[in-house]
Amino acid sequence: MVISEMGDHGHEQVTYVTDDETGLKAIIAIHDTTLGPSLGGTRLRPYETEADALTDVLRLSEAMTYKAAAADLDLGGGKAVIIADPDDKSADLMRSYGQAVDWLGGRYITSVDMNTGVADMEIIAELTEHVVGREDGLGDPSPVTAEGVFSGIEACVEHRYDTGDLSDRHVVIQGIGKVGRGLVERLLDAGATVTVSDINDEKVNQYADEHGLEVVAPEVVYDEPCDIFAPCAIGGVLNDETIPRLECDIVAGGANNVLETRSHAATLKNRDILYAPDYVINAGGLITVATEAEGGSMGDAIRDANKIGDRLLQMFETAEDEDITVLEAAERYAEKRIQAGA
Ligand code: NAD
Repeated sequence: MVISEMGDHGHEQVTYVTDDETGLKAIIAIHDTTLGPSLGGTRLRPYETEADALTDVLRLSEAMTYKAAAADLDLGGGKAVIIADPDDKSADLMRSYGQAVDWLGGRYITSVDMNTGVADMEIIAELTEHVVGREDGLGDPSPVTAEGVFSGIEACVEHRYDTGDLSDRHVVIQGIGKVGRGLVERLLDAGATVTVSDINDEKVNQYADEHGLEVVAPEVVYDEPCDIFAPCAIGGVLNDETIPRLECDIVAGGANNVLETRSHAATLKNRDILYAPDYVINAGGLITVATEAEGGSMGDAIRDANKIGDRLLQMFETAEDEDITVLEAAERYAEKRIQAGA
């Protein structure tokens, strides 16, 4: 059953690891290493069943292949899941997991994800060199992600309005966390008008006061007239209920899995709303860990994140020429790189 599921999406290798002594139960999935070693975080969750864990790791590792390829990185896609309650996480558990990563000999490079952090990567590093997101690494990737999203918004504006000038543009940002706040700063520097929204009332009001911004309530953020809607909070926000309400020309933001389903890319296209695929525009985080893996600096990562806009422009052109969604154009871009690398 596992082999047929792997075959359905072209996974190269799925490794199951257990350790009775530490209670380790993990699955490491390597989707595709045509462009380079697979890279992806280690997610720790108390999955209800092994089948749920497998489905998650297969889906996430495949997505990493596309994300890396569409970011022009020489990396493949991988991901790992540890089936455990976060309360049961121990140094010994992470050590036995680190040993398993090392067994793969560099075909899989790990990093942080849900319920794993820098301290865990330090423990893993006792057993293997194939780990990034470390204490002496490049640190929080959010500023690079925000930089990449800003570069992507500039490209969207250029494509849509034939000018890169943001000073006449109104951007609504959903979620003023680490990425949202970095984006606000870049947009204000470029002269854009920014409205912010967040479920944390106190935080958003204080932030808006400090920066002289308008606030829109989270329930009505989709109805707010603007040029660009920038989702920077959670996934699944664009769906059958919210897309008809949008009063914008462009959707471009940092959040992962913005579309509830793939088909919502077509719903946006039908409404003539330009959509910058999330995994392309928010690749700054991956670019940061990839740069760390190569021994590069934060400056190198920022420089590379600024190339996201140019790639998006190519994808917009393909989408228009071929009358397909930008999501499909992004997939073609990634697939072309993988085929050329094969
Ligand atoms: P964060 O936790 O710092 O901030 C998220 C913000 O969104 C918080 O202020 C929270 O109150 C707000 N929020 C949550 N639900 C909301 C809702 N329904 N409506 C409005 N606001 C809501 O997270 P972050 O690091 O800024 O990441 C934001 C998004 O970008 C996430 O989807 C994340 O997966 C994605 N992302 C982040 C990075 C990165 O480098 N941090 C990289 C790639 C993708």
